[in-house]
Amino acid sequence: MTLDYDEIRFLTEPRSVFVDWDLSSKCNYRCSYCSPSSHDGKIDFPSIDVVKRVVDKIQYEYAGIKDYAVYNLLGGEPTIWNKFEECSRYIKQVNPKNQLQILTNGNRTLSWWQRNINYIDRVILTVHVAQADIKELVNKFNALSTNSYIEFQIALDIAVFDKCVEYFYYAKENLNSNIHLSAKTLLKILSDPGVMEYTDAQREVIKKITEKPARPATQNRFVKLHNNQVVDDRVNMFDMILQKQNNWKDWACWIGIDTITITVAGDFKIGSMCNPHLILGNIRDLNFNIPKIPVRCNYSECGCLTDIYTKKLKYYNGPTL
Ligand code: SF4
Ligand code: SF4
Repeated sequence: MTLDYDEIRFLTEPRSVFVDWDLSSKCNYRCSYCSPSSHDGKIDFPSIDVVKRVVDKIQYEYAGIKDYAVYNLLGGEPTIWNKFEECSRYIKQVNPKNQLQILTNGNRTLSWWQRNINYIDRVILTVHVAQADIKELVNKFNALSTNSYIEFQIALDIAVFDKCVEYFYYAKENLNSNIHLSAKTLLKILSDPGVMEYTDAQREVIKKITEKPARPATQNRFVKLHNNQVVDDRVNMFDMILQKQNNWKDWACWIGIDTITITVAGDFKIGSMCNPHLILGNIRDLNFNIPKIPVRCNYSECGCLTDIYTKKLKYYNGPTL
């Protein structure tokens, strides 16, 4: 049953802005469901000077409404960047409350992770089953001594679906209890909306896959509310996408306030996949301001997880973009 709701957001509203930063198209993998432009190597990582100016800009722009920024570094594979350590150090130096999250395939060596993990607050590790060795990944991350949050997400690739399920249950059995484990449904092509065409039998298998939470108490839950009351405190966006419930047309959406996107081309943008006209400027010319008012949604499908996990209000009378 779909519960009626008029607001969707994190239970504790963030005092931070989430900076979703696609750094480059350089990657050490070639996933079949990844758009070539996300891993073809044509776009290099930005220079460290540019990166530092961007971090300063974010600090300045959001100082009045947010306490800190959460940098989500991705694209293609951020851990192969030779300035990764300098960038992470600077993010913390500018504001010690700043947090760093990375989206990674986890392929770097144990010694790389041991050197860098102290700067990283959250590691979101997608297991790309066709290319990864689950035993190697589990052994490596079990051996890593850290208090950082680590999440393994087993990508449910329709082309090797049975192996994905096997990998999930291997990880469930063998991962340290402080590492979170989940499975994620995939888009046909990661940069476009439209989920893979799982068969009914595969959907049944997916429904039975349950997460293995590492530290449930520390995770801020995404919830639905009706008249300011929580009506669903276990919102699972992967399920919502599968059931085509990711539609908030005409709602007010907090992209640009709670989140900001920096595309692989270096464009500062409000919304990842939607609103192509809302490009504010580029990392190489920071002479612009971020409006920081909600956006009225014009789309019948919200396709990117960062966008989906952003506050939305059905009834809002204030100014919108
Ligand atoms: S999905 Fe990620 S790991 Fe796979 S090729 Fe694309 S950028 Fe690389
Ligand atoms: S499509 Fe864009 S504007 Fe609409 S809900 Fe998603 S992120 Fe917000």
